[in-house]
Amino acid sequence: MIDLRSDTVTKPTDEMRKAIATAPVGDDVFGEDPTVNKLQEKVAGLLGKERAIYVSSGTMGNLLSVKALTKPGDEVILEAESHIIHYEGAGTAMICGVQLRPIAGKRGAITPEQILPAIRPDDHHYPRSALISLENTHNRWGGAVLPLDLIREIRALADEKGLKMHMDGARLFNAQIASGVSAREYAKYFDTVTICFSKGLGAPMGSMIASDAETIDTVHRFRKMVGGGQRQVGIVAAAALYALDHHVSRLADDHKRARRLADALAKMPGVSIHPEEVETNIVIFDVSASLMTPLDIVTKMGERSILMLPFGETRIRCVIHLGVSEQDISETISAFLEVFKK
Ligand SMILES: *Cc1c(COP(=O)(O)O)cnc(C)c1O
Repeated sequence: MIDLRSDTVTKPTDEMRKAIATAPVGDDVFGEDPTVNKLQEKVAGLLGKERAIYVSSGTMGNLLSVKALTKPGDEVILEAESHIIHYEGAGTAMICGVQLRPIAGKRGAITPEQILPAIRPDDHHYPRSALISLENTHNRWGGAVLPLDLIREIRALADEKGLKMHMDGARLFNAQIASGVSAREYAKYFDTVTICFSKGLGAPMGSMIASDAETIDTVHRFRKMVGGGQRQVGIVAAAALYALDHHVSRLADDHKRARRLADALAKMPGVSIHPEEVETNIVIFDVSASLMTPLDIVTKMGERSILMLPFGETRIRCVIHLGVSEQDISETISAFLEVFKK
């Protein structure tokens, strides 16, 4: 079975399982889990922030970051295809009481020229514009990397207007590997940054929020409130530490394999994709010209033991991760050739 549905499907490697089995643990609600503490210090250092805090998922990371940086009734400006809008169950509405202000972007990016008119004047008719949230890499835009210059310009605007900035960095290390810009350099321009260990890094679960000490203290209080205070969570932190030490530079292999798949798909009849836009590990392509539906194709690939997901009415998404080898890419390309020829 070749599973290209998501980079969340990875299983812990034998070495990672060993790290899990031997991790020293304690009660993290008491702040006494040495492995979690080590992970939090390591991530704070990696991202150049005062502190970092373990949370059980990327969704919880985004939720608690938004919660810490806003008040009920505030507005959050973000790109229209953001994970926060589409895949987090309206948690920011339910739990933070904020309104989202989506802006249609290009390749995951929104510009200062688009953001400026979306920032509300100080008038009691309007919500208070409090936060700009950016996603890097951008999931629904096919793993696109946000340009650093653009982030810098948006930060300057945010400072001028008194807004905070959050980065959903579920795949921040993919951005680092693809662009050569360090995660720390990206993080510099944000008040809060989340990263996920359960995506391309290949750990079974877990995310982190990095920020200043005061914001992390606020997050810690809300984390307890939403049931995110966990006990001997060092068994999970051990997997995350292992992933940070062993699974970051190898993301380059995923990116190379994604591009190889994209290059092959671009030559197939009925497929539309710009391979040069595949910068990281996500391959999204349009199949309308094939006269088959995405579901038809996904089903036919499934019959060949290759799994992927339809992505809307006309597109399919394949995600490359550490469970996908060069050989798997070759087999996937052969299977696609059969399906698109018929
Ligand atoms: C996966 C993902 C998250 C976190 O989702 P979980 O389901 O909580 O792991 C957040 N942001 C982006 C962009 C993601 O791809």
